[in-house]
Amino acid sequence: MAFERPEIEIHDAGVRLAIGKLICIGRNYAAHAAEMKSPVPTKPMIFLKPDSSVVRDGGAVRLPASSSDVHHEVELVALIGKGGKDIQESVALTHIAGYAVGLDMTARDIQSAAKERGHPWSVSKGFDTFAPLGTFLSADAVADPQSLSIRLRVNGELRQEGATRDMIFPVAKLIAYCSTIMTLYPGDMIFTGTPEGVAAVAEGDTLTAEVEGLPALSVSIVR
Ligand code: MN
Repeated sequence: MAFERPEIEIHDAGVRLAIGKLICIGRNYAAHAAEMKSPVPTKPMIFLKPDSSVVRDGGAVRLPASSSDVHHEVELVALIGKGGKDIQESVALTHIAGYAVGLDMTARDIQSAAKERGHPWSVSKGFDTFAPLGTFLSADAVADPQSLSIRLRVNGELRQEGATRDMIFPVAKLIAYCSTIMTLYPGDMIFTGTPEGVAAVAEGDTLTAEVEGLPALSVSIVR
């Protein structure tokens, strides 16, 4: 195993970028906030995953020994190509180099314990292989990131199905908001939140995640 920072490639553009910070948005679909018995946020709710959590299409998600309840969350992922600070919402989409489908794997039992204690979510969200990413296509391939269907199948069975139009905060608003807090660099990514239907995965499962117009992402679950 090489201990080197992973890179990401935009398939149809031949561009390679070192993976930067993985900014994740929680509770960005009202129906998912409801199933988590969480209030709908009045501004984007942000947490981070480490770069080391990335695993690519065809790889495996490794279940950590410290959790017995790892959930799938299918999400549209936007890759920043042009950095910025205090980016205006009106130009925010021009900062995106590409899009992919991703999974925000979550150790729900560890997250629930952290919520109770007021602790951060970093452990529950940050294990190695907890950020599977599909093949990125250039931003030109996506005419409108708010008009896409999104779904997840486990062993062929439909588990999550939604539409990006149901995001509480659209992608442009997320970029604008995040960039008021942290400077965005090329290679940073935004995981834009998951629709309802999150549930536990098991050793031996195959997850297939899809966003309309983007290459499907497939990973297996191992222990
Ligand atoms: Mn998520």
